Amino acid sequence: MKKYLSKDIFQVLESESTESGFTLEKAIRSGILNPDSSIGIYAGDAQSYKTFATIFEPIIHEYHGISKGEKHISTLEDVQLIDPDPERKYILSTRIRVARNLKGFHFTNHIDLAQRRNLEKKIVAALSDLKDDLKGEYHSLELLTQSAALTFEEQEMQFQKGDRFQDAAGINSDFPKCRGVFHTTDKHFRVWVNEEDHMRIISQDASSDLSGVFNLLCKALVALEQTLAFEKDDTYGYLTSCPSNIGTTMRAGVHIRLEKLNQNRTLLTSLTKAHGLQIRGTGGEKTRVDNAVFDISNHRRLGISEVDIVNNLHQGLLDIIYTEKNL
Ligand code: ADP
Ligand code: MG
Repeated sequence: MKKYLSKDIFQVLESESTESGFTLEKAIRSGILNPDSSIGIYAGDAQSYKTFATIFEPIIHEYHGISKGEKHISTLEDVQLIDPDPERKYILSTRIRVARNLKGFHFTNHIDLAQRRNLEKKIVAALSDLKDDLKGEYHSLELLTQSAALTFEEQEMQFQKGDRFQDAAGINSDFPKCRGVFHTTDKHFRVWVNEEDHMRIISQDASSDLSGVFNLLCKALVALEQTLAFEKDDTYGYLTSCPSNIGTTMRAGVHIRLEKLNQNRTLLTSLTKAHGLQIRGTGGEKTRVDNAVFDISNHRRLGISEVDIVNNLHQGLLDIIYTEKNL
Protein backbone atom coordinates (compact mmCIF):
# COMPACT_ATOMS: atom_id res chain seq x y z
CA MET A 1 0.00 0.00 0.00
CA LYS A 2 2.78 2.37 0.97
CA LYS A 3 4.61 1.58 -2.25
CA TYR A 4 1.69 2.46 -4.52
CA LEU A 5 -0.40 5.03 -2.63
CA SER A 6 1.11 8.19 -4.09
CA LYS A 7 -0.06 11.63 -3.03
CA ASP A 8 -1.87 12.00 -6.35
CA ILE A 9 -3.79 8.76 -5.97
CA PHE A 10 -4.53 9.56 -2.31
CA GLN A 11 -6.01 12.93 -3.21
CA VAL A 12 -8.30 11.43 -5.83
CA LEU A 13 -9.51 8.54 -3.65
CA GLU A 14 -9.62 10.28 -0.28
CA SER A 15 -13.22 11.47 -0.67
CA GLU A 16 -14.53 8.35 -2.47
CA SER A 17 -16.82 5.84 -0.85
CA THR A 18 -18.60 2.64 -1.89
CA GLU A 19 -22.40 2.52 -1.59
CA SER A 20 -22.05 0.76 1.75
CA GLY A 21 -19.84 3.56 3.10
CA PHE A 22 -16.42 1.94 2.82
CA THR A 23 -13.70 4.57 2.46
CA LEU A 24 -9.97 4.69 1.69
CA GLU A 25 -9.32 5.60 5.31
CA LYS A 26 -10.93 2.32 6.43
CA ALA A 27 -9.19 0.33 3.71
CA ILE A 28 -5.68 1.44 4.72
CA ARG A 29 -6.20 1.63 8.48
CA SER A 30 -4.50 -1.69 9.18
CA GLY A 31 -1.50 -0.82 7.01
CA ILE A 32 -1.14 2.61 8.61
CA LEU A 33 -1.24 1.21 12.15
CA ASN A 34 0.98 -1.74 11.24
CA PRO A 35 3.84 -0.61 9.01
CA ASP A 36 5.11 -4.20 8.98
CA SER A 37 2.00 -5.40 7.08
CA SER A 38 2.75 -7.31 3.92
CA ILE A 39 -0.20 -5.91 1.92
CA GLY A 40 -1.60 -3.11 4.10
CA ILE A 41 -4.99 -2.63 2.44
CA TYR A 42 -8.36 -4.42 2.66
CA ALA A 43 -11.59 -4.25 0.64
CA GLY A 44 -14.77 -3.74 2.68
CA ASP A 45 -17.12 -5.01 -0.01
CA ALA A 46 -17.01 -6.15 -3.63
CA GLN A 47 -17.41 -2.60 -4.90
CA SER A 48 -14.19 -1.51 -3.14
CA TYR A 49 -12.19 -3.18 -5.92
CA LYS A 50 -13.83 -0.82 -8.45
CA THR A 51 -14.10 2.38 -6.40
CA PHE A 52 -10.48 2.13 -5.26
CA ALA A 53 -9.17 0.39 -8.38
CA THR A 54 -6.27 2.82 -8.82
CA ILE A 55 -4.67 1.59 -5.62
CA PHE A 56 -5.84 -2.05 -5.65
CA GLU A 57 -4.76 -2.75 -9.22
CA PRO A 58 -0.97 -2.27 -8.91
CA ILE A 59 -0.94 -4.17 -5.61
CA ILE A 60 -2.86 -7.08 -7.15
CA HIS A 61 -0.61 -7.14 -10.21
CA GLU A 62 2.51 -7.24 -8.10
CA TYR A 63 1.29 -9.81 -5.56
CA HIS A 64 -0.17 -12.28 -8.08
CA GLY A 65 2.43 -11.57 -10.77
CA ILE A 66 -0.18 -10.83 -13.42
CA SER A 67 -0.07 -8.15 -16.08
CA LYS A 68 -2.79 -5.78 -17.25
CA GLY A 69 -5.61 -7.61 -19.03
CA GLU A 70 -4.78 -10.98 -17.48
CA LYS A 71 -7.87 -12.61 -16.05
CA HIS A 72 -8.95 -15.08 -13.43
CA ILE A 73 -8.85 -18.67 -14.65
CA SER A 74 -10.29 -21.74 -13.01
CA THR A 75 -10.10 -25.51 -13.40
CA LEU A 76 -11.68 -27.45 -10.62
CA GLU A 77 -11.48 -31.12 -11.48
CA ASP A 78 -10.15 -34.18 -9.74
CA VAL A 79 -6.41 -34.80 -9.84
CA GLN A 80 -4.42 -38.02 -9.45
CA LEU A 81 -0.98 -37.30 -8.04
CA ILE A 82 1.53 -39.74 -6.68
CA ASP A 83 2.10 -39.34 -2.96
CA PRO A 84 5.09 -36.95 -2.61
CA ASP A 85 6.12 -38.55 0.71
CA PRO A 86 5.20 -42.26 0.58
CA GLU A 87 7.48 -43.09 3.54
CA ARG A 88 5.60 -40.49 5.65
CA LYS A 89 8.89 -39.01 6.81
CA TYR A 90 8.43 -35.32 6.12
CA ILE A 91 4.86 -34.22 5.48
CA LEU A 92 2.71 -34.11 8.62
CA SER A 93 -0.48 -32.78 7.10
CA THR A 94 -2.02 -31.28 3.99
CA ARG A 95 -4.49 -28.40 4.03
CA ILE A 96 -6.19 -26.69 1.11
CA ARG A 97 -8.53 -23.77 1.64
CA VAL A 98 -10.48 -21.31 -0.40
CA ALA A 99 -12.30 -18.17 0.70
CA ARG A 100 -15.84 -17.18 -0.26
CA ASN A 101 -17.95 -14.11 0.46
CA LEU A 102 -21.70 -14.10 -0.06
CA LYS A 103 -23.37 -11.68 -2.42
CA GLY A 104 -25.31 -8.93 -0.71
CA PHE A 105 -23.25 -8.73 2.48
CA HIS A 106 -20.31 -6.48 3.32
CA PHE A 107 -17.01 -8.20 4.04
CA THR A 108 -16.21 -9.14 7.66
CA ASN A 109 -14.03 -6.06 8.28
CA HIS A 110 -17.03 -3.81 7.53
CA ILE A 111 -20.06 -5.51 8.98
CA ASP A 112 -22.42 -4.84 11.87
CA LEU A 113 -23.68 -7.45 14.31
CA ALA A 114 -27.14 -7.82 12.76
CA GLN A 115 -25.64 -8.48 9.32
CA ARG A 116 -23.12 -10.90 10.78
CA ARG A 117 -25.95 -12.80 12.47
CA ASN A 118 -27.92 -13.08 9.21
CA LEU A 119 -24.83 -14.20 7.40
CA GLU A 120 -24.09 -16.89 9.98
CA LYS A 121 -27.68 -18.20 9.73
CA LYS A 122 -27.60 -18.32 5.95
CA ILE A 123 -24.24 -20.10 5.81
CA VAL A 124 -25.13 -22.61 8.52
CA ALA A 125 -28.41 -23.43 6.71
CA ALA A 126 -26.51 -24.12 3.47
CA LEU A 127 -23.91 -26.24 5.27
CA SER A 128 -26.55 -28.34 6.97
CA ASP A 129 -27.72 -29.52 3.52
CA LEU A 130 -24.37 -31.14 2.72
CA LYS A 131 -24.43 -34.89 2.30
CA ASP A 132 -22.24 -37.98 2.65
CA ASP A 133 -18.56 -37.28 3.41
CA LEU A 134 -19.36 -33.54 3.64
CA LYS A 135 -22.06 -33.99 6.25
CA GLY A 136 -21.13 -32.32 9.51
CA GLU A 137 -22.06 -30.12 12.42
CA TYR A 138 -21.70 -26.44 13.18
CA HIS A 139 -19.97 -25.44 16.43
CA SER A 140 -20.63 -21.86 17.43
CA LEU A 141 -17.57 -20.23 18.98
CA GLU A 142 -19.88 -17.88 20.83
CA LEU A 143 -21.73 -20.74 22.53
CA LEU A 144 -18.58 -22.76 23.19
CA THR A 145 -16.87 -19.87 24.97
CA GLN A 146 -20.03 -19.13 26.98
CA SER A 147 -20.53 -22.65 28.24
CA ALA A 148 -17.11 -23.65 29.56
CA ALA A 149 -13.41 -23.53 28.96
CA LEU A 150 -12.65 -25.07 25.60
CA THR A 151 -11.11 -28.50 25.59
CA PHE A 152 -7.86 -28.83 23.70
CA GLU A 153 -9.68 -30.58 20.89
CA GLU A 154 -12.29 -27.84 20.60
CA GLN A 155 -9.55 -25.24 20.63
CA GLU A 156 -7.69 -27.04 17.86
CA MET A 157 -10.78 -26.97 15.65
CA GLN A 158 -11.74 -23.36 16.23
CA PHE A 159 -9.93 -20.33 14.90
CA GLN A 160 -8.50 -17.66 17.16
CA LYS A 161 -9.36 -13.99 17.38
CA GLY A 162 -7.57 -12.17 14.57
CA ASP A 163 -4.07 -10.73 15.05
CA ARG A 164 -3.26 -6.99 15.22
CA PHE A 165 -3.38 -6.71 11.43
CA GLN A 166 -6.90 -8.11 11.26
CA ASP A 167 -7.91 -6.24 14.40
CA ALA A 168 -6.95 -2.87 12.95
CA ALA A 169 -8.83 -3.75 9.76
CA GLY A 170 -12.06 -4.29 11.74
CA ILE A 171 -12.25 -8.06 11.37
CA ASN A 172 -12.48 -8.70 15.14
CA SER A 173 -15.65 -6.65 15.68
CA ASP A 174 -18.05 -8.35 18.14
CA PHE A 175 -15.73 -11.38 18.47
CA PRO A 176 -16.63 -14.23 19.20
CA LYS A 177 -20.24 -13.51 18.22
CA CYS A 178 -21.54 -15.17 15.03
CA ARG A 179 -18.32 -17.09 14.48
CA GLY A 180 -17.94 -20.80 14.37
CA VAL A 181 -16.63 -23.87 12.63
CA PHE A 182 -18.57 -26.48 10.72
CA HIS A 183 -16.81 -29.81 10.46
CA THR A 184 -17.37 -33.43 9.57
CA THR A 185 -16.86 -36.08 12.26
CA ASP A 186 -13.56 -37.12 10.68
CA LYS A 187 -12.55 -33.39 10.54
CA HIS A 188 -11.36 -33.66 6.96
CA PHE A 189 -13.81 -31.03 5.81
CA ARG A 190 -14.19 -27.77 7.73
CA VAL A 191 -15.70 -24.35 7.16
CA TRP A 192 -14.71 -21.31 9.19
CA VAL A 193 -17.64 -18.92 9.43
CA ASN A 194 -17.03 -15.18 9.78
CA GLU A 195 -13.27 -15.18 10.16
CA GLU A 196 -11.32 -12.99 7.68
CA ASP A 197 -13.88 -13.83 4.99
CA HIS A 198 -17.48 -15.01 5.32
CA MET A 199 -16.34 -18.55 4.64
CA ARG A 200 -12.98 -20.27 4.66
CA ILE A 201 -13.66 -23.66 3.15
CA ILE A 202 -11.00 -26.14 4.17
CA SER A 203 -10.04 -29.68 3.31
CA GLN A 204 -7.40 -31.09 5.63
CA ASP A 205 -5.81 -34.43 6.41
CA ALA A 206 -2.92 -35.57 8.57
CA SER A 207 -1.24 -37.13 5.54
CA SER A 208 0.53 -36.26 2.30
CA ASP A 209 -2.47 -37.24 0.16
CA LEU A 210 -2.65 -34.09 -1.97
CA SER A 211 -5.12 -35.61 -4.43
CA GLY A 212 -7.55 -36.78 -1.75
CA VAL A 213 -7.51 -33.41 0.00
CA PHE A 214 -7.94 -31.47 -3.25
CA ASN A 215 -10.67 -33.72 -4.66
CA LEU A 216 -12.75 -33.47 -1.48
CA LEU A 217 -12.54 -29.68 -1.63
CA CYS A 218 -13.68 -29.70 -5.29
CA LYS A 219 -16.68 -31.77 -4.35
CA ALA A 220 -17.60 -29.35 -1.54
CA LEU A 221 -17.28 -26.32 -3.80
CA VAL A 222 -19.54 -27.82 -6.45
CA ALA A 223 -22.16 -28.56 -3.78
CA LEU A 224 -21.98 -25.12 -2.14
CA GLU A 225 -22.22 -23.27 -5.48
CA GLN A 226 -25.67 -24.78 -5.80
CA THR A 227 -27.04 -23.22 -2.64
CA LEU A 228 -25.05 -20.01 -2.10
CA ALA A 229 -24.30 -17.04 -4.38
CA PHE A 230 -20.76 -15.73 -4.02
CA GLU A 231 -19.15 -12.38 -4.89
CA LYS A 232 -17.23 -12.97 -8.10
CA ASP A 233 -15.71 -10.85 -10.83
CA ASP A 234 -14.65 -11.79 -14.39
CA THR A 235 -11.17 -10.34 -13.98
CA TYR A 236 -10.48 -10.84 -10.29
CA GLY A 237 -12.36 -14.11 -9.70
CA TYR A 238 -13.79 -14.64 -6.22
CA LEU A 239 -13.50 -11.47 -4.16
CA THR A 240 -12.05 -11.45 -0.67
CA SER A 241 -11.29 -8.86 1.99
CA CYS A 242 -7.52 -9.09 1.44
CA PRO A 243 -6.38 -8.60 -2.17
CA SER A 244 -3.75 -11.31 -1.75
CA ASN A 245 -6.57 -13.86 -1.62
CA ILE A 246 -8.65 -13.00 -4.71
CA GLY A 247 -8.92 -15.20 -7.82
CA THR A 248 -9.09 -18.88 -7.00
CA THR A 249 -8.64 -17.81 -3.33
CA MET A 250 -6.82 -21.09 -2.90
CA ARG A 251 -3.97 -21.74 -0.51
CA ALA A 252 -2.77 -25.31 -0.86
CA GLY A 253 -0.09 -26.29 1.57
CA VAL A 254 1.54 -28.80 3.82
CA HIS A 255 3.09 -28.88 7.24
CA ILE A 256 6.46 -30.40 6.55
CA ARG A 257 9.39 -31.20 8.84
CA LEU A 258 12.70 -30.28 7.22
CA GLU A 259 15.52 -30.70 9.77
CA LYS A 260 18.34 -30.22 7.27
CA LEU A 261 16.86 -27.41 5.24
CA ASN A 262 16.04 -25.68 8.53
CA GLN A 263 19.82 -25.31 8.87
CA ASN A 264 20.04 -23.99 5.34
CA ARG A 265 17.27 -21.45 5.02
CA THR A 266 18.80 -19.76 1.97
CA LEU A 267 18.54 -22.98 0.01
CA LEU A 268 14.98 -23.59 1.22
CA THR A 269 13.93 -20.07 0.25
CA SER A 270 15.39 -20.41 -3.22
CA LEU A 271 13.68 -23.80 -3.71
CA THR A 272 10.29 -22.48 -2.63
CA LYS A 273 10.65 -19.34 -4.74
CA ALA A 274 11.55 -21.38 -7.81
CA HIS A 275 8.22 -23.22 -7.49
CA GLY A 276 6.10 -20.15 -6.65
CA LEU A 277 5.72 -21.28 -3.04
CA GLN A 278 5.81 -19.36 0.22
CA ILE A 279 6.81 -20.29 3.76
CA ARG A 280 4.70 -19.59 6.83
CA GLY A 281 5.26 -20.50 10.46
CA THR A 282 3.83 -23.57 12.17
CA GLY A 283 0.96 -21.62 13.75
CA GLY A 284 -0.05 -19.86 10.52
CA GLU A 285 0.65 -16.51 8.95
CA LYS A 286 3.16 -14.35 10.83
CA THR A 287 4.08 -17.04 13.35
CA ARG A 288 7.47 -18.70 13.82
CA VAL A 289 8.66 -22.07 12.63
CA ASP A 290 8.65 -24.56 15.53
CA ASN A 291 10.71 -27.77 15.53
CA ALA A 292 11.59 -27.33 11.85
CA VAL A 293 7.91 -27.67 10.84
CA PHE A 294 7.25 -25.31 7.93
CA ASP A 295 3.94 -24.39 6.33
CA ILE A 296 4.73 -24.44 2.61
CA SER A 297 2.01 -23.29 0.20
CA ASN A 298 1.39 -21.48 -3.08
CA HIS A 299 2.00 -17.73 -3.17
CA ARG A 300 -0.30 -16.55 -5.97
CA ARG A 301 -3.99 -17.32 -6.34
CA LEU A 302 -5.06 -15.22 -9.34
CA GLY A 303 -4.18 -15.98 -12.97
CA ILE A 304 -3.47 -19.62 -12.15
CA SER A 305 -6.05 -22.42 -11.97
CA GLU A 306 -6.77 -24.49 -8.88
CA VAL A 307 -5.44 -27.63 -10.60
CA ASP A 308 -2.19 -25.85 -11.52
CA ILE A 309 -1.80 -24.60 -7.95
CA VAL A 310 -1.92 -28.14 -6.60
CA ASN A 311 0.29 -29.49 -9.43
CA ASN A 312 2.93 -26.82 -8.72
CA LEU A 313 2.81 -27.59 -5.02
CA HIS A 314 3.31 -31.27 -5.82
CA GLN A 315 6.32 -30.56 -8.06
CA GLY A 316 7.80 -28.22 -5.46
CA LEU A 317 7.40 -30.79 -2.68
CA LEU A 318 9.10 -33.50 -4.73
CA ASP A 319 12.03 -31.15 -5.26
CA ILE A 320 12.19 -30.02 -1.62
CA ILE A 321 11.99 -33.57 -0.25
CA TYR A 322 14.64 -34.78 -2.72
CA THR A 323 16.95 -31.97 -1.56
CA GLU A 324 16.27 -32.61 2.13
CA LYS A 325 17.06 -36.31 1.68
CA ASN A 326 20.33 -35.60 -0.05
CA LEU A 327 21.68 -32.99 2.35
P1 ADP B 1 -5.09 -19.17 5.99
O1 ADP B 1 -4.30 -18.92 4.75
O2 ADP B 1 -6.08 -20.25 5.80
O3 ADP B 1 -5.67 -17.92 6.58
P2 ADP B 1 -3.28 -19.15 8.28
O4 ADP B 1 -1.85 -18.93 7.95
O5 ADP B 1 -4.07 -18.03 8.84
O6 ADP B 1 -4.02 -19.74 7.00
O7 ADP B 1 -3.38 -20.42 9.23
C1 ADP B 1 -4.59 -20.93 9.65
C2 ADP B 1 -4.40 -22.11 10.56
O8 ADP B 1 -4.23 -23.29 9.78
C3 ADP B 1 -3.24 -22.03 11.49
O9 ADP B 1 -3.65 -22.52 12.76
C4 ADP B 1 -2.22 -22.97 10.86
O10 ADP B 1 -1.35 -23.54 11.81
C5 ADP B 1 -3.12 -24.03 10.25
N1 ADP B 1 -2.50 -24.69 9.10
C6 ADP B 1 -2.03 -24.14 7.98
N2 ADP B 1 -1.54 -25.05 7.13
C7 ADP B 1 -1.70 -26.25 7.73
C8 ADP B 1 -1.40 -27.60 7.36
N3 ADP B 1 -0.85 -27.92 6.19
N4 ADP B 1 -1.71 -28.55 8.25
C9 ADP B 1 -2.29 -28.27 9.42
N5 ADP B 1 -2.61 -27.03 9.81
C10 ADP B 1 -2.32 -26.01 8.99
MG1 MG C 1 -5.43 -16.54 7.99
